[in-house]
This record gives sequence, structure tokens and C-alpha cells, in this order.
Amino acid sequence: MKQDFKNISTQVVHWYLVDGRHDLPWRHKVTPYRIWISEIMLQQTQVQTVIPYFNAFIKKYPTLATLSPASEDEILAMWSGLGFYRRARNIFAAKEIIKKEYENKFPKHLEQIIRLPGIGKSTAGALMSLAFLEPQPILDGNVKRVISRLIKKDIAVLKEKELWELSKKLVNQEDCFSYTQGIMDLGATVCTQANPSCHTCPLNKSCKSAFKVKAQVKNNTAKTKKIITMNFSLVLTAHSFLLAKNEEGSIWNHLWVPFKDSVIALHASKLKLLKREHIRHELTHRSLDLSINIYLATKEFKVTTNQKYEWIKKYRIKDYGTPQPLTKLMSQL
Ligand code: SF4
Repeated sequence: MKQDFKNISTQVVHWYLVDGRHDLPWRHKVTPYRIWISEIMLQQTQVQTVIPYFNAFIKKYPTLATLSPASEDEILAMWSGLGFYRRARNIFAAKEIIKKEYENKFPKHLEQIIRLPGIGKSTAGALMSLAFLEPQPILDGNVKRVISRLIKKDIAVLKEKELWELSKKLVNQEDCFSYTQGIMDLGATVCTQANPSCHTCPLNKSCKSAFKVKAQVKNNTAKTKKIITMNFSLVLTAHSFLLAKNEEGSIWNHLWVPFKDSVIALHASKLKLLKREHIRHELTHRSLDLSINIYLATKEFKVTTNQKYEWIKKYRIKDYGTPQPLTKLMSQL
């Protein structure tokens, strides 16, 4: 069966116009800025998780101009709980470049966009097609799966170059916006990894795998996650928390966290132990086992350390990037 990619592309557009997810917030009031923020958030995170974070971010920073003066900490604070914090740091780094090199206007050309931190070839393609209506291919995990099934080749043996060529052939030149949104939606909602819904798929007449993909039985045996143990000493006064900027190459790099026990032990005479908390926090691939000693100090003091730290007023804690389980704990103290 010879496949007509132009026709497949048109079918994706028609399907999107009728059955696509038109209610996603970044698909309204489309601007390069809004598309950029949504695409970065959607890297490694599901749509439903991203929606409230996107809405909160856009409420605080509705435009590039409003984001422009934000500090890295303020951007990290908006990311608290979304995980993969490198993405927030990339947003900070990219908006600084946009400010210095592009007069605070989002660059319009693929070769400029692709040089911004956090933007790979696929994200750049999505930005060009969605925000500037210039047809460019994308190749995220969902699109790779749809293409490999369309041509009935094992995704594991397909070369990246071959996938990009096929993705390029599929791009719709007349309506790249609907095509790009459509191929993403099709992969996420119809041609799913475990159980593709070929009977509702607009491509089931041209797809070589149609009705032939075996549904995967859900494996309920939970994979054993690596457990990471962390110990902290959280010191507070009546009005502030003592937090340090985490500069270690760990999962919470650049976020504000309590000091390690060994640092706080040097100031034990000024502290009263209030309680010990134990928190289990689940990440995608790891479990965190947190032990936190909570101390009360009568007043703020100077800490013996080379680490950057601050006594952060309780009412300002939301302006700092802190990890979700610790944010929750501090909100109760
Ligand atoms: S027909 Fe089935 S396998 Fe082919 S693209 Fe559609 S959902 Fe995927």
C-alpha cells in the first residue's frame, strides 16, 4: 500500500477541527510567549497537570514584558510542584537572552528560537507552526509513535533522521496550526501507547498498523523506585524560615531548602527542637524519604556556612522556589 502523506495530513487537520482539544488554555489568545511557556511545561509533564500551572503562570506573568524583570527565584516559585526544575531555569535564561538580544520580543526565526535554552528541534518546530504559522515538523514521543505505526515499523529500529523526514512530509502546508495540534492530540488521545483506538482514528484507512496493534495489558506490578533519603533541619522564628539555596547537582538544584543537620548542629545552643517530621514524597522515577527536624529560634542569627542563605519572612515564602513537600510543611508552621 503506497501511503499518501498529503492526504494523511489533511485528515489530521479535519479531525483536529472537529475532535481536537480546543479547550486547552494555550490554544486561546495564541501568542509566541504563551505557546513557549506551554511547550516548556508540557516537556515531561501531562496536559492535565500542566493546565493549573500554566494558568497560574500566565495570571502572574501574562506577557513577555511582565516576565522580563522576574528573578530566577520568582520563576522557580511558580514551578513549585511541577518538577524538572531545569525547565524553569531555562525559561529564566531564555527570557534574559530575549531581553538582551531581541529587544524583549520573541524571536521569529527557527534558527534563533532553537538557540534559546530549553528549546530543542521539536519545541522550536511547534513554536514556528503554532505561533508564527510557518510549517515545521515536530517529533515528540507521541508523534514518533503515530509515524512508526503509520508505516508499521518498530519504533526502536527507526532512525531519528528517518523519523524527522517522515514528520516533515506530514506537515500540512495550508494549516500547520491545526495539523500540529492535531497530530499531538491524536497521539495523546487516540493512538495511545497501550491501547490505540483504531476504530475512531481518522487515519485507519491509510495506517499500516490499523487494528493490528495489540492492546497492552496493564502491568500492575509496581516497578521498584529508587529511594533517596534526605535529612534536613528546618529552623524558624515567629516570623521567618531559615533556608539555603541548594547549589548541589541534585533534584532540587537552585531551590531554597532547609540546611543539612550538620550545619544547624553548630548552632544547637540557640535552638529548641519542636518536632520531627517524616515525609514520603513520590516523584516520577524516585521516592524521597525526608526526615526533618524542626527547630525554633528566639531570633534570627548568622549561620556559619559558605552557602547562600536567607531568613525568609513567612508571608514571602511563596515568592521563593521551594520543593513542594517542604512548601506544604512550611505552610502548616
Ligand atoms: S489507525 Fe490505529 S495504529 Fe494507526 S494511527 Fe490510528 S490509532 Fe494509531
